[in-house]
Amino acid sequence: MKRRTFIQNASLTGIGVVAGAAALSCKDEKDSTTQASSRSNSAAMIATIPVVIATWNVPTSTAKAWEVLQEGKSALEAIEQGCMVEEANAEGQSVGIGGLPDRDGKVTLDACIMNKHGDYGAVVCMQNIVHPISVARKVMEDTPHVIFAGKGAEEYAVSIGFKRENLLTESSKKAWEKWRKTSLYKPIINIENHDTIGMLAIDKNGDISGGCTTSGLAYKMAGRVGDSAIIGSGLFIDNEIGGATATGLGEEVLKTVGSFLIVELMRQGKSPQEACEEAIGRIIKKTPVFKDFQVGYIAVNKAGETGAYCIHEGFTMMQYQNNENENIPVDFYNKA
Ligand code: ASP
Repeated sequence: MKRRTFIQNASLTGIGVVAGAAALSCKDEKDSTTQASSRSNSAAMIATIPVVIATWNVPTSTAKAWEVLQEGKSALEAIEQGCMVEEANAEGQSVGIGGLPDRDGKVTLDACIMNKHGDYGAVVCMQNIVHPISVARKVMEDTPHVIFAGKGAEEYAVSIGFKRENLLTESSKKAWEKWRKTSLYKPIINIENHDTIGMLAIDKNGDISGGCTTSGLAYKMAGRVGDSAIIGSGLFIDNEIGGATATGLGEEVLKTVGSFLIVELMRQGKSPQEACEEAIGRIIKKTPVFKDFQVGYIAVNKAGETGAYCIHEGFTMMQYQNNENENIPVDFYNKA
């Protein structure tokens, strides 16, 4: 397990500095009820702002967001531009163009964004538009509504200037055709096949925003909507407290309103790491078949202290802080 020790950089931030436990703690104890307090292996660390964190290994996305923050722009702008990098990457098969389709061969995208005021915008089950994160921002800023779905979302996007494009790349089409021959139209839940990009950022003013963008579970049933674009589940931001975002089996995140839970636990005094561990613990407690699916959370608090936790080995978090862009293996529950 890799440890991250933060560089003391308090004088540069002008904002509070938090001394606490390492972002990604190791522990021996597997009982979810004791996870939060099992932090004996943690190293001392100093958190600073600005900071950007994201689910999975997306260094170019966090680098873009960091660049935007360095220009003195808002966390919201950093989130949109950072998420757009991965949405435009046709090689990535879980976000934007190139995303794996539903079981009928259609690429349908979910995304949401939240700003420092707690405003929220989202699109669900939207086809043919490469940048759902940008459409979500428009929904938030330019309409009286918060969620647009399906055809309506696509038509709204086109009406404000987004271009229709085919999102199904040749390699994703081939993967779908192969799956179709073998899987009898049942959605597969592969614990390693989750790559939603959830991103959280704090800008130089100390304000927090977040975004989450995905093509959802590969080969999902038509019309299925996951957690990623749903406020409180795939993403939640409270500018007084912090933010959290999720990846993995959306149904489990939705049932436990995971990101909202993490922010509320931080409000009650838990560190981001402790809050992520407790949110995973809730899923494990109520869903005995957790061995068949993955869920991962990342979180940041107002001072820039970060945390992450997941069910199974394999999840990583990008963290850009103190001028360092690092992909960090995330500690996990299922050590069996
Ligand atoms: N959370 C996403 C969903 O359920 C999937 C993922 O993270 O890959 O749609």
